[in-house]
Amino acid sequence: MSDANPYALLFEPVRIGPVTARNRFYQVPHCTGLGHVRPRADAAVRGMKAEGGWAVVSNQETEIHPTSDLSPYAEGRLWDERDIPALRLMTDAVHAHGALAAIQLAHNGNHAQNLLTRAPVLAPSEMSIDTSQPKQAQAMDKADIREFRRWHRDAALRARDAGFDIIYVYAGHNMTLAHHFMLPHMNQRSDEYGGSLENRVRLTRELLEDTHEAVGDSCAVAFRFAIDEMMGADGMQAAEEGRAVVELLSDLPDLWDVNVANWSNDSATTRFQPEDGYQNAFLSHVKQITRKPVVGVGRLTSPDMMLSMVKKGIVDLIGAARPSIADPFIPKKIEEGRADEIRECIGCNICVSSDNLGIPIRCTQNPTMGEEWRRGWHPEIIAPRRSEAETLVIGGGPAGLECAMQLARRGYQVTLAEASSELGGRVAKESRLPGLAAWSRVADYRLNDLKQRGNVRLFTDSRLDGEQVAELGIEHVFVATGCHWRKDGIGRSTQRHPPMIASNAKVLTPNDIMNGTLPPEGPVMIYDDDHIYLAGVITEKLATAGYQVAFVTPESLVSAYAVNTLEQSRIQARLIELGVDIRCNQVLTALQSDVACIGCAFTGRQTDIPCASMVLVTERRRETALYDTLKGAGLKSLELIGDAASPGLIVDAVFAGHRAARDFERPKAEADKDWFRREIIDLAEDAS
Ligand code: ADP
Ligand code: SF4
Repeated sequence: MSDANPYALLFEPVRIGPVTARNRFYQVPHCTGLGHVRPRADAAVRGMKAEGGWAVVSNQETEIHPTSDLSPYAEGRLWDERDIPALRLMTDAVHAHGALAAIQLAHNGNHAQNLLTRAPVLAPSEMSIDTSQPKQAQAMDKADIREFRRWHRDAALRARDAGFDIIYVYAGHNMTLAHHFMLPHMNQRSDEYGGSLENRVRLTRELLEDTHEAVGDSCAVAFRFAIDEMMGADGMQAAEEGRAVVELLSDLPDLWDVNVANWSNDSATTRFQPEDGYQNAFLSHVKQITRKPVVGVGRLTSPDMMLSMVKKGIVDLIGAARPSIADPFIPKKIEEGRADEIRECIGCNICVSSDNLGIPIRCTQNPTMGEEWRRGWHPEIIAPRRSEAETLVIGGGPAGLECAMQLARRGYQVTLAEASSELGGRVAKESRLPGLAAWSRVADYRLNDLKQRGNVRLFTDSRLDGEQVAELGIEHVFVATGCHWRKDGIGRSTQRHPPMIASNAKVLTPNDIMNGTLPPEGPVMIYDDDHIYLAGVITEKLATAGYQVAFVTPESLVSAYAVNTLEQSRIQARLIELGVDIRCNQVLTALQSDVACIGCAFTGRQTDIPCASMVLVTERRRETALYDTLKGAGLKSLELIGDAASPGLIVDAVFAGHRAARDFERPKAEADKDWFRREIIDLAEDAS
């Protein structure tokens, strides 16, 4: 790297116990929905981060014993030596690119449901388990604690044998026994493991000492610690007990990996935590006390922010989970003076939702995430063009932009035509709604790339019809014309009994709101049959603008799907604070000019609500008219992609655009046969 690189400080090596990180970029543990269920795919994700320049690449929380069984979720697993080969895939992949591999050992206490193992659930004290399963945990006695320490020590030895360089003791996210013992609201013990802070930290101290003693000559011992629960005086606070824990343990770990609890605070979305570096205020406490290196997170994507954090002595290492998912090549890009090419995380937590759904990780910004092994996709490399073919992409939303950018990267001539005066489609529009500004990065990143390419022509104010497409004479066409929200009230809850909507009722859709139309004066009702973010942000916009708003949904929670992005409770709290009249478990049955009729989702009992207008967030209609026309136009190839093919989330549109560009001119038989590789259980091996 040239000395002139203003970010040279970020590329200094950092000693961590017996090992050395080649630079300051540290991928902290994050789940992938792959884990022990799909170890090859997981190894490929981690290997890609190492290739992208991260000095340390961690796996995800790794169950150390059958009493910590996180099934059905796909986390790491290291119950016994039979789990070593799968983890060895990861350490080999990480080492192949000169990085250190870290493992986050975990016993999840009452956060583990033990659904697979049917083992009793363990906790510091008698309590319910942490999910809505009808089960309780048993308080651990001294023998249980001794056993737990032995499991942890044995797991550390296995981790070393699997090739890990850094081994974690994990007290964070309210998700592990070490953390549970520390927290007074979870630890009501009266023995030497309960009561005073020193007693509550005893177990963590023992785990750190045990791990050092077992593997400390060759592996660094990292401590992941949630210094603040962000509950004020109801929980641990960084300036109070949080600081005291650091003082008590000070130089015992080789590395402090510090964050906040719970997971929704640590992985806050941009909607609720717009600032990058939002955990900085909690980190400096630690560096003031310990002499050991500190890593911290906070959705860090800006090299200037990273530099200032190191310069100010807030951290030694730049931690990242989501930024490294959105762009595994952040370090390389900064090192090579290409920081403007960083694909910045938008803080939408679609990646998080994958883990919560038990499916392979996906990312709105990085469509190759989770596809490295099974589809062989690389975030920075794409196969060159197969011919001189010229391509036309119609529609400049996320699907069209991604498709155009990848076709251009392959070397094809690309023309992109967009009907409206701005590029970005739904992303441009949605990012103007409350809290979603960072989402414009989806369009910004792609436009920045497209505008620099000599083989791309971008046209706005160009609504194409069949004739115009014929005039252009381009014979390979991708139609990414999107979709629009229905106005008739039909959605998943009203399919059977469509609502009766009077002709003089005032009905709007999200398209109207995003195009700047506001409801007339008077009470407005939002009907949400979509269940993720859009109805919630429209409600917020209208309530903030002074409307009297009723939010009606057939679900039992506001924005119920947003449980998966860790936002649901915040959304509901925000709407309550804004004075919104929330009506859950209600289905829209009729709308007249001044009143709406809703029925209980269980009994059908009807209620009238005064309302001068209604915003329907139900289903979408695909824009396929142009595609249907072009079907008969004798083009060499024609593909419908994105929301025009299958309305979904932005992540789905980006993925569809990416896949279409990758598969362009790929023989159809090959593409049909080979969706992706699968990690199939080898039954032949059982027989041998
Ligand atoms: P997606 O999420 O699939 O990318 P969007 O709705 O975000 O879909 O974007 C679709 C874009 O296509 C919109 O910006 C829309 O203006 C544009 N569009 C629709 N019909 C045409 C057309 N006939 N010609 C050019 N652009 C079109
Ligand atoms: Fe960031 Fe969203 Fe990608 Fe997660 S899915 S890494 S939050 S852009």
